[in-house]
Amino acid sequence: MGSCGEEETELKCTWVHGPIIVGAGPSGLAVAASLSESGVPSLVLERSDCVASLWQHRTYDRLKLHLPRQFCELPMMGFPESFPKYPSKLQFIQYMESYASRFGIRPLFRCAVSEARYDEGLGGWRVAVEGEGEGVYVSRWLVVATGENCEAAVPELQGLERFCGGSVLHTSDYKTGANFEAKKVMVVGCGNSGMEVSLDLCRHNARPYMVVRNSVHVLPREIFGMSTFGVAMALLKWLPLKAVDKFLLAMAQLILGDMNRHGLRRPKTGPLELKNSTGKTPVLDVGALAQIKSGKIKVVEGVKEITKRGAKFVDGKEEDFDAIILATGYKSNVPSWLKGSELFTKEGMPKTQFPNGWKGEKGLYSVGFTRRGLLGTCSDALNIAKDISQQYLKMTTPTTMDPKCQNQLSHLVLHLRP
Ligand SMILES: Cc1cc2nc3c(=O)[nH]c(=O)nc-3n(C[C@H](O)[C@H](O)[C@H](O)COP(=O)(O)OP(=O)(O)OC[C@H]3O[C@@H](n4cnc5c(N)ncnc54)[C@H](O)[C@@H]3O)c2cc1C
Repeated sequence: MGSCGEEETELKCTWVHGPIIVGAGPSGLAVAASLSESGVPSLVLERSDCVASLWQHRTYDRLKLHLPRQFCELPMMGFPESFPKYPSKLQFIQYMESYASRFGIRPLFRCAVSEARYDEGLGGWRVAVEGEGEGVYVSRWLVVATGENCEAAVPELQGLERFCGGSVLHTSDYKTGANFEAKKVMVVGCGNSGMEVSLDLCRHNARPYMVVRNSVHVLPREIFGMSTFGVAMALLKWLPLKAVDKFLLAMAQLILGDMNRHGLRRPKTGPLELKNSTGKTPVLDVGALAQIKSGKIKVVEGVKEITKRGAKFVDGKEEDFDAIILATGYKSNVPSWLKGSELFTKEGMPKTQFPNGWKGEKGLYSVGFTRRGLLGTCSDALNIAKDISQQYLKMTTPTTMDPKCQNQLSHLVLHLRP
C-alpha cells in the first residue's frame, strides 16, 4: 500500500480517532474496556461474527476454565458470584458478552485485517480490512490482540494425506465424543487439549489412543482442595522457583503416583521452570490420568508414519484407526498480516519476554501473547491502556498528516469522535 492518494479514492479510507484493536477475544476486549474507563474510544476489528470467537466456535463442549475463576478475570469486572470455581465454556462466553456490553464495546464483526503497516507520511498505522467493513482504517495506535491460539498448528505427519480410514480433525474443530462412539481414535498430542479430548472420547465409549511423543508434566488440578496454580503462585512469593517446582513434583508423585509406568515421562526441568523457559504449559489433570491407569486411554509412542488405515509407531507397532484428532496446539497469525514491525518474531510472538513484550515502536502494542493465559492479558491490557491514554489525553489534533489525506479523512474524524 502507498499513502492515501488519489488513485485510492475509490477505497473507503477511515481515520480512527482512538486506537485500532485487532481481535475481539478476551485480550482485545480487556484493552478496549480499560481504555474506555479513561475516556479513550477505540475501534475493535474482528474477523469472526462474535466476541471471544475462539471460545464460541473453536473449543470442545466439555471445556471448563483450566484455572480457578479468580485467575481468569478481566480488568474491572469479576465473574458473577453464582459461577462455580471452574466456569464452563458457556459461562465464560456469557461473562465475555456481559463484559463487552458493560463497557459499551461494539466490535466491527466480519472484518478481517489482511494487512497493517506503519505509514510515515500519515504518521499512523494503515490497516486494510476485508469483509463487511472493507476498506482502509488509519490510526496513531495499533493494538494486536489476535491471540497466540489463532490458527491450528499441524506438524508434518508423514503419510497423513494417505489416511482414508475416517475423519482427520484438529481439536479446534472437535466438539464432542458423541460422534465417535465405539470408534478407535488416535489423538496426536498429550497437552491439556489431548488429555481432555481423550477423556471426552472415553466418556462417549470411544477407544482413544493418545500419542505421547515428548515428555510431559502432569500435575493434579488441586492439592488438598486448593488449586495447584494458586498454591504455586502463593509459594513463589516466598520461595525460589526451583523449590516450588520440587514441592509440586512431590505433590504430583503423592497424589497421582508414578506416571512413568503409564508411558508418561516427566521432563528433567521442573514444571514452572519449563513454562518460563519454553512456554510449555503443564497438564492439569481433570480425570484423564485415571482413564490411562485403567487402560481406557491407551498411551502410544510417537508416530512414525500414517498409513491408509491407521498409523505405524516408532516402536514398530501398527494400528488401524477410525479417526485421527490432532491435539497439536495453536500458533499466532501475526506474521501473515502485520508488516514491517520489529515487535514480533517470525513465529508471531513478541521478541521481548513477559512482562515487557506489550509495547513496540510507533504506537504498536501487543496484548495476550504472554503464554500466561488471562492473567498475562490483564497485565498487558492495563499497561497498554495507561500508555495510550496518557498520549491521547495530551493530544489536541489527531496527527500530523499529509494535507491531502487530512482533507480526505477529516469528515471521518468527526464521524468517529466519541
Ligand atoms: C482449549 C483452550 C482452553 C483454555 N483455557 C484457558 C484457561 O482456563 N485460562 C486461561 O487463562 N487461558 C486459557 N486458554 C488460553 C486462551 O487462549 C486465552 O484464555 C484467551 O482466549 C486468549 O484471548 P485472546 O483474546 O488473546 O485470543 P483469542 O481468544 O484467540 O482471540 C483473538 C481474536 O482475534 C481474532 N482475529 C485473529 N486474526 C484476526 C484478523 N486478521 N483480523 C481480525 N480479527 C482477527 C480471532 O477471530 C479471535 O476472535 C485456553 C485456550 C484454549 C485453546
